[in-house]
Amino acid sequence: MSGQWQQHVSLKPYNTFGIDVKARYFTEVHSDDEVRQALARASEQGVPVLVVGGGSNLLLTGDIQALVMRMASRGLRILSDDGERVVVEAEAGEPWHPFVQWSLAQGLAGLENLSLIPGTVGAAPMQNIGAYGVEIKDVFAGLTALDRETGELRDFSLEECAFAYRDSLFKRHPGRWLILRVRFALSRVMHAHLEYGPVRQRLSEQGVSQPTAQNVSDAICSIRREKLPDPLELGNAGSFFKNPVVAAVLAEKIRLQYPGLVAYPQADGQFKLAAGWLIEQAGWKGHREGDAGVHRLQSLVLVNYGQASGVQLHQLAQKIQADILERFGVELEMEPNLY
Ligand code: FAD
Ligand code: NAP
Repeated sequence: MSGQWQQHVSLKPYNTFGIDVKARYFTEVHSDDEVRQALARASEQGVPVLVVGGGSNLLLTGDIQALVMRMASRGLRILSDDGERVVVEAEAGEPWHPFVQWSLAQGLAGLENLSLIPGTVGAAPMQNIGAYGVEIKDVFAGLTALDRETGELRDFSLEECAFAYRDSLFKRHPGRWLILRVRFALSRVMHAHLEYGPVRQRLSEQGVSQPTAQNVSDAICSIRREKLPDPLELGNAGSFFKNPVVAAVLAEKIRLQYPGLVAYPQADGQFKLAAGWLIEQAGWKGHREGDAGVHRLQSLVLVNYGQASGVQLHQLAQKIQADILERFGVELEMEPNLY
């Protein structure tokens, strides 16, 4: 299908919520040349372009009157290896978890806490993907992106990406930068990040006291398979809200009323609250409105039981946001990208 544009294509297989909207045009691109050709043709015809990867962080609320361009470029390579620090590069269309597995098979540590996250390498910098105390900024060594305004290629350093909690320069300027490939600095020496209780607990249950990167990855995969719905079985986009970071005064105020408040102190004196805990306390866990619902085990995950539309899921999300604001005085910010 290289280079071809299909018309009126259902995006149901291309977003993990499984929302059945149509793309006016759809194409898959496998190389920089195909990216440039598709963008040039779209520009000639005055068609807007929406770039997608695995569709695991999208909430589609209607037909997309644009060219949906799915990144399908492949390639994994080692750029340098000094015996300890190894820089690897992956093309944007590489699926994330197989890339993590490839790095582990090379004997490289660094990505193990980010195991089993859906999606592609190219989308990972968008929200600085993170899990179990590691974000890609911690192992990031650069990326190459196409500036859609000028058509020029540009290399970005760590500082230039302005990574923050589930955020980056690219997320703040949607549509400007098309990420083509990403580089990571990995290590032949394991520096374990085991701050998150469930990971330590799972390893100790397995009798592992000196974990390898593969051990940590396996433990995290097993925890995630137990806790998170598989999008192939139940449509979802992972965590639907970011964990809010609030002033210490507000965290204390909430704790007076809810002594079990889950709050993590931040370096700047603020507190990160577990959004899932707030939603559960407010009684939303397992709540269902038609086919849109809050997962029965994980309150942070909104799910599509089959035929929910993006609008219905968005409406449910807005009700939750309003309720959490009223009860706790906390604003919840949506994590998936809304189109
Ligand atoms: P898409 O959903 O296709 O796109 C996301 C955004 O990036 C869109 O705005 C799109 O336009 C843009 N984009 C995509 N590719 C490119 C590109 N090459 N260049 C420029 N822009 C691009 N996230 C976490 O951070 N941590 C987790 O632990 C985590 N767990 C998850 C678990 C489940 C079950 C699910 C369903 C999701 C989870 N997510 C998690 C969210 C999601 O998987 C990640 O955000 C992932 O990086 C999205 O990748 P994608 O390829 O699917 O992006
Ligand atoms: P959890 O272990 O039930 O913990 C709830 C929240 O508390 C997490 O979101 C996490 O925040 C925070 N937390 C837990 N232990 C912490 C610690 N030691 N220090 C600082 N913060 C801590 O979380 P979960 O829902 O099962 O998810 C586990 C990990 O996978 C989390 O890192 C989560 O972000 C990630 N995840 C992300 C998505 C997504 O779509 N974005 C989906 C599933 C899982 P943080 O989120 O800031 O880490």
